[in-house]
Amino acid sequence: MEFLPDPDQTRVLEHARGPLLVTGGPGTGKSAVLRERLARLIESGVDPERVALVVRTDGARAAGRSWLLERLRSSLPGLRVVTVHGLAYRVVVARFDTLGYRAPPRVLAAPEQFERVHELLLAEPPEGWPAYGALLGLRGFADQVRQFLLRAQEALLSPEDIEARAKEAGLGGWLELAGFYRRYQEVLDAEETVDFAGLLAQAAAAAGQGEPLFDHLLVDDYQEGTDALERLLADLSPRSLVVAGDPDGHVFSFQGTTDRPMRRFAERFTGASQVTLGTCHRSPEPKVEAWFARHGSEEHAAVARELRRTHVEEGVPWGDLAVVVRRQGEELGALLRALDDAGVPRVMPERGLSLLAEPAAHPYLLALRWLARPGDRDGLIESLLTSDLARLSPATARGLIRAARGAGQAASGALERDDGLSPAEAEALQELRTVLDQAQAVADRSVLEAFRILWGGLACSRRLVAEAETSSTGRRLLDAVVALGEVVGRSAERSEVPVSAFLESLEAGREGPGLSWDPGDRAEGAVRVLTAHGTVGQEFDTVVVVGAVEGNFPSLSRPEPMFDFTVLEHPVSQSERNRSRLEEERRLFRLVTGGARRRVLYTASDPRGVDTELAAPSRFVNEAGLAWEDAPTVADAEPLTVSEAAAAWRRRLADRDVPAADRLAAVNGLLALGSDPARWWFQRDWTGTDRPLHESIRTSYSKLDKLDNCALQYVLAEELGLDDRAGYQAWVGHLVHRIIEDCENGLIERTPEGLIAAAQARWREEEFPSFAVSEAFRRLVVDRMLPAWFRMYGPGRTLATEVRFDFEFDEAQVTGYIDRIGAVDGGGTVITDFKTGKARDLATPEDNLQLGVYYLAVERAEELAQHRPVRGVELAFLKEPPKQGQPPSDSMAVAQLPIRPAMRKEYEEAVTGRLSELIGEVRHLIETENYRPNPRADCFFCRFKPLCPLFPEGAELFPAPEEARS
Ligand code: SF4
Repeated sequence: MEFLPDPDQTRVLEHARGPLLVTGGPGTGKSAVLRERLARLIESGVDPERVALVVRTDGARAAGRSWLLERLRSSLPGLRVVTVHGLAYRVVVARFDTLGYRAPPRVLAAPEQFERVHELLLAEPPEGWPAYGALLGLRGFADQVRQFLLRAQEALLSPEDIEARAKEAGLGGWLELAGFYRRYQEVLDAEETVDFAGLLAQAAAAAGQGEPLFDHLLVDDYQEGTDALERLLADLSPRSLVVAGDPDGHVFSFQGTTDRPMRRFAERFTGASQVTLGTCHRSPEPKVEAWFARHGSEEHAAVARELRRTHVEEGVPWGDLAVVVRRQGEELGALLRALDDAGVPRVMPERGLSLLAEPAAHPYLLALRWLARPGDRDGLIESLLTSDLARLSPATARGLIRAARGAGQAASGALERDDGLSPAEAEALQELRTVLDQAQAVADRSVLEAFRILWGGLACSRRLVAEAETSSTGRRLLDAVVALGEVVGRSAERSEVPVSAFLESLEAGREGPGLSWDPGDRAEGAVRVLTAHGTVGQEFDTVVVVGAVEGNFPSLSRPEPMFDFTVLEHPVSQSERNRSRLEEERRLFRLVTGGARRRVLYTASDPRGVDTELAAPSRFVNEAGLAWEDAPTVADAEPLTVSEAAAAWRRRLADRDVPAADRLAAVNGLLALGSDPARWWFQRDWTGTDRPLHESIRTSYSKLDKLDNCALQYVLAEELGLDDRAGYQAWVGHLVHRIIEDCENGLIERTPEGLIAAAQARWREEEFPSFAVSEAFRRLVVDRMLPAWFRMYGPGRTLATEVRFDFEFDEAQVTGYIDRIGAVDGGGTVITDFKTGKARDLATPEDNLQLGVYYLAVERAEELAQHRPVRGVELAFLKEPPKQGQPPSDSMAVAQLPIRPAMRKEYEEAVTGRLSELIGEVRHLIETENYRPNPRADCFFCRFKPLCPLFPEGAELFPAPEEARS
């Protein structure tokens, strides 16, 4: 590990005294030269306790310490490699008396600080907060105020400074914040506690008092500084101060850091000199490629395979490979599943990231959410019942929810019911109820205690432990839950933390990086899965950036903080904000890419098979001039695993065009792998009744619409009836339709007031996942939908509502209901379907199948003969305002198709042609029973992803034994 400095680094090593700024891009050796300087200072006889290397994260601290201990080859208990807060803590411990404390103040952990702010805000009188009084009780507001308090202290702004600037800028609401800031500090002072930012501010205030505490200070990543850190370094007055940073590397502004201290270093530190490191010590031109896959699952499978290939064929250790995602979320779960399925060992060194995405931790987090968020329980109940906590089938769980609703309870009441459960299921549910009740009793007080009860009492814990004794997969799953336990333990180290505060801190900052931790030995033989921010300062042989699409790179949608300190200095326009956000995103992307020594691979896919913003490949990749290539598939490549080899040789064996000798070799290979032809299930015919699923076809528009999207979704939802979750949006739609129908039939007074009164009387808050959602929809119905309907359709002449039809077409029965048939001046009718969802198909009503089916229904069903001729068909979107080009009398968006005599024939042909095609498809499916997923389907709302082979969570029903994967 001999360090061979380049000439610029030599100047840094030889720097004797005074301030020095070291700048350089990624790979120029800034961190390395700081470590070497520290080692040489200690070797030259400097007291290790009077020299400190200050780094940004715990991970960097651990890496720096272990490098130095190896380099110095001796154990140095006083070796000072510390984070910024570690440095501040040492200063405060040494100088607490000068700050007026009787003992070093206790530092509030982040969840504790949040709870303290929330409590104090709840106790504030709303009349003292003219601007924000209505928000005082909201946890979201408490979080914004918490961030305000941190940012103010990091910027060394006192309550008086904020008051003065707010008055000057005319920002009334900030005066309320400044007053609270003062009271918050008084409370913390009285309790002799500080929060993290206060710790730094206090250290800065005490640093200049007394003899200097350090002779030499070295500070890394100074581009992520704060005003408080700058003041602390200046007032510590070490004999030498060397700070290093990348002038183009500032990317953590969302955590409150700024590159201002680095830019004004020469100004603030008299006599400062500067060294720019110009030699890049990494491979200057890593190979860069970009792959595009048709689907997310294909993208993840290609990534997993490429990692394995790089490891196997190029000999790159697992630990030298990194996969970068933009954020936590569904996509990360799918990627992890793909890595696990491909047997790629992986570790997530950002704890928040790992815990929220880990399948094994999911049941425990679900239980904690259940305990802490009673308002969310209706939305959680189905997941709770079908998770490892209760292990009910989706159908059974939904049966319980229906039974609860039928009994007038909220959906969450399903947990208390046993309807239709087997004795074993009822017993398991009873056990879960008991454990949750016990944990509930302590949830407001202690997450540690609540987690202890869950871990000790839940059956899934026992199963995890048993599984860990018999398989490596089981051990990995247990590891994830142990990691959750460690985080719970650490969050409650200093004092008790309620479950709600723990969840808030765990879920904060989904953009990452999460709470960082040192995965220790686990990282050695495992691929790192990191957020983009988590890669900063790290180096790998190969970096794979997954999801390189707009919306991820750049990600411009992160919410702005409610209180942005820049507005105290000057007004900030949205375009300025966007520009600076984009610049920061560009820097971040450069840093992610710069972390690769040899190769960078960007991957992207079209997540919904449609042109959404998220589907567009990243502009940053395009700006680099890279061409997107199709992601390779397994079938194109040499096998890397036993299962891939078995599949390839089976394909060769089955291919009659392959020479006989090669086919024989394939047999030998398969036998050598121990492949058992008796288990080649796809060789066998399916068992069945030998009778078609239906003797005749009965269909409707909604069934055909689903078929048009995806045959697999159609069979699961429509033929097997597995999609019985109506959801609250459907309930709202049903309610609005019923009220309109009752009004048309004279059961409700035909006035806006009559309609609204009916909606208020029939509203059922328990249908919604929370009160807030219920209120939002209630307002939508009474303020927008019903008044809009009344203005447009109230005065008109309605001939019929909710008209059932049934007509024969191509030897099939087509059925359905028409919402409204209205009269048209001069004779004929117009057919209307009311929509309560988002407006679609506004531009092309002539292509809308639903309108076409209704048109045919009136033209062909005998019972509707009196409503002919149809002069127009329309979809009326009750919640959408009218679009450009609609008549001024319209009160909502309408997709309208007038049917003029001249176009009647052509329209009818188009509709019958499309209907024929779809009914032919139904007939074909009934005959072949071959229902395939559609790679171009709109899968966004599909509930069958866990059963769909196009999605990673569509897990194998019969997974291959573990040895077959290696
Ligand atoms: S998830 Fe699968 S089943 Fe559902 S619509 Fe998409 S392709 Fe079809």
